[in-house]
Amino acid sequence: MESVKETLGLRRDYTQKETNLIERAFAFAQKAHEGQKRFSGEPYFNHVLETAKILANLNMDATTIAAGLLHDVVEETAIDEKSIENEFGQEAMFLIRGVTKLGKYQYKGLTRHTESLRKFLLAMSQDIRVLIIRLADRLHNMRTLEHVREDKRRRIALETLEIYAALAERLGIGQVKGELEDLAFPYVYPEEYAETLRIHREKSKDAKERLEKMYRSLHKAFLEGGIRPVNVDYRVKHLYSTYKKLVKYDMDPEKIHDITALRIIVGSVEECYRALGIIHGKWNPLPGRIKDYIATPKQNGYQSLHTTIFTGDGGIVEAQIRTAEMHRDAEFGIAAHLGYKEGLQREKGHTLHKKLAWIEQLAESQKNLEESGEFLEHLKMNLFADRVFVFTPHGDVIDLPEGSYPIDFAYAIHSDIGDHFAGAKINNKLSSLDTKLKTGDIVEIVTKKKGVPSSKWLDHAKTPFARKHIKAATQKK
Ligand code: MN
Repeated sequence: MESVKETLGLRRDYTQKETNLIERAFAFAQKAHEGQKRFSGEPYFNHVLETAKILANLNMDATTIAAGLLHDVVEETAIDEKSIENEFGQEAMFLIRGVTKLGKYQYKGLTRHTESLRKFLLAMSQDIRVLIIRLADRLHNMRTLEHVREDKRRRIALETLEIYAALAERLGIGQVKGELEDLAFPYVYPEEYAETLRIHREKSKDAKERLEKMYRSLHKAFLEGGIRPVNVDYRVKHLYSTYKKLVKYDMDPEKIHDITALRIIVGSVEECYRALGIIHGKWNPLPGRIKDYIATPKQNGYQSLHTTIFTGDGGIVEAQIRTAEMHRDAEFGIAAHLGYKEGLQREKGHTLHKKLAWIEQLAESQKNLEESGEFLEHLKMNLFADRVFVFTPHGDVIDLPEGSYPIDFAYAIHSDIGDHFAGAKINNKLSSLDTKLKTGDIVEIVTKKKGVPSSKWLDHAKTPFARKHIKAATQKK
């Protein structure tokens, strides 16, 4: 018989204790949901199993996977919270409760039910893992949306697009974001979906052969240049992001060249640039389409080199070059960092702080805005405002506005650490004050006991909190 590890597709080794926790949650949920059916007629247990599989694929920690298996037990069965807590511990119960609380409200678009939306944000701000379980739960619900009553489908799909996919994007979980959007797209904008699908099919026709041919002629040049790619494949752009791009170019398909792209994974950053050089040595790049997201990552941490080239036979093709690590980050975003750091922290016996201050503050600040148009604007501006997620050496997540500096990070940890700031190491390298932080950076602050804030810091401090402290301290002198 297939083991639980195989069934869930666990992607890394968990300790004996952790494996045991997952196995017990599996058996418990299977028994608890026995005889229950989903709208589709399939056993209810399938839903929680699929949710847990998505979490396993995101490489989440054992407690999160167990909570994924148990996430509907409180709401859908007669089992009470106490017995779940006794069996699986406080941490798992905390996550389950967070997910359960979120289940109760009905989404009617951003303009209505703002109070419940506020509660929803508040509940998931307490632990980023609650949000990730919720994303996995929603992903499986979207995969089975056709079985839901027709009048409910559009509401659920709209919510998926406006809230869940947007959050997945913010957290850099490209894989989940792309699938959520594409599943919601036909329900929310049926006509636009049909048109995009038509263009997409037309433009991706024969793409595979074209890209294969291109790579065959590239292969030799790579070998001569001493580059042996780890992997080469063809990626097809998601439908919804194709649609967004079409809108940007007035629905003119001729302006879009990246519906299919050659994706080249190489061993190092240095090889990325050499590979780009080799490609440009062979084919002419389209001016203005060379993007260096390695030197300047996107706000959500995405890194890659992009170039669009003329293939010489009338074709125009995009190539994306990145390392395996960049690829992992692009697919899994903050989840990849959490999983990885979790392993490190476990060895040192730390508990991780996973609170999302950004969402919490946002939810709190909505209290007074009530159900006015103001709320909508404020929420849209802030929920989707540009944030970066940075880590302490202990693995705590600190979220800051885009464009923040090491001094902002220091003050975000504690005003004392900010006041005694002496320097910062970013990803183990000493870095200057004017280095802008990006998602995924691990930042260590060096402090000096006798250090005091300098008014020069104001040039490299973005957050109001840091600026306020620096001003107060420098005016005292
Ligand atoms: Mn569920």
